[in-house]
Amino acid sequence: TIKEKIKQLKDGQVFLSLEFFPPKTESGIRNLLARMERMSALNPLFVTITWGAGGSTNEKTLSLVQTCQKELDFTTCMHLTCTNTEKSIIDEALAKAKEYGIRNILALRGDPPRGEEYFVSNAGDFQHAVDLVKYIREQYGDYFSIGVAAYPEGHCEGADSSEQSVEKDLPYLKEKVDAGADFIITQLFYDVEKFLTFESLFREKVSKDIPILPGLMPINTYQLFHRAAKLSHASIPQHILDKFPESIQNDDDKVKSIGVEIIRDIIHEIYSRTNGRVEGFHFYTLNLEKSIAQIVEKSTLLSRVIEDNAEDEDNAIAEGDE
Ligand code: FAD
Repeated sequence: TIKEKIKQLKDGQVFLSLEFFPPKTESGIRNLLARMERMSALNPLFVTITWGAGGSTNEKTLSLVQTCQKELDFTTCMHLTCTNTEKSIIDEALAKAKEYGIRNILALRGDPPRGEEYFVSNAGDFQHAVDLVKYIREQYGDYFSIGVAAYPEGHCEGADSSEQSVEKDLPYLKEKVDAGADFIITQLFYDVEKFLTFESLFREKVSKDIPILPGLMPINTYQLFHRAAKLSHASIPQHILDKFPESIQNDDDKVKSIGVEIIRDIIHEIYSRTNGRVEGFHFYTLNLEKSIAQIVEKSTLLSRVIEDNAEDEDNAIAEGDE
């Protein structure tokens, strides 16, 4: 499980994880699998596969997690949302995941269905992500390692960001941890200061040792960068905006390469300012490969992940363990 794999890391060993979503078409799936196979060279500790709110991608998600776990040999984590969903869909998803050898679930509430500005939960068993965490523990004990979401700038409901606050979320995040969550993955952010404030509050008020993985989204084009930040209610600090003068905003190659440096710097700053307490970094890949490969290559910290892998392989070969 992810919990065990993190525990087994050596002192000072860093890791990365990768999120993918299930493509809609057969050819999309084929392309993604080829890409994931190449990305296994980045030696992710685990990969995660998203779940469409309300169970809208359940078959595609289940099929992709099975392939990732069984054929591509990734430690795989399946996202699962719990509101606006029939309980039978959740039961079936958990049973199938177990059948496929999946040991990790990212337990989420889910966003409101499209078109509804504010979230109306169904009156069923699941109102919040914590209900799913409790349910999985009740039904499966410690079989699954469970991750939950957190928001370094506060969770935002609907379009109104005025009520966004980390302080408001913290007691609920604590409930999720107390109910049995093993690790945290954050919403994407670009403001390191906000993440660091969140991390130290979390350490003080929720848990001293449960792993927190910062969620990072590579910058692929200037428009997408703004759109993703807006949709996730993530602020972009002025010093980052200043790196993209108007003259280069439409030059995708330049934007991408500046983006690589920005994300690399965010990783290094978080690692050094938390004295290595944050040792894993989660990438929202958008099913794309290049920026992440470049971030890893340009980061002295993350390129160690690949060197560690090469070293392990050398040792295995030396020991005749192929
Ligand atoms: P919760 O933990 O339930 O929190 C939601 C809100 O309710 C927060 O504002 C919290 O403060 C509040 N709250 C919690 N408990 C209580 C309580 N007892 N009483 C009152 N208020 C409470 N969505 C998908 O549809 N599919 C995915 O695959 C997916 N993957 C994601 C991966 C990550 C890493 C992240 C960060 C988000 C992901 N999402 C996904 C989006 C997520 O479903 C939404 O952000 C959703 O709005 C909140 O989910 P949550 O699990 O954080 O909810």
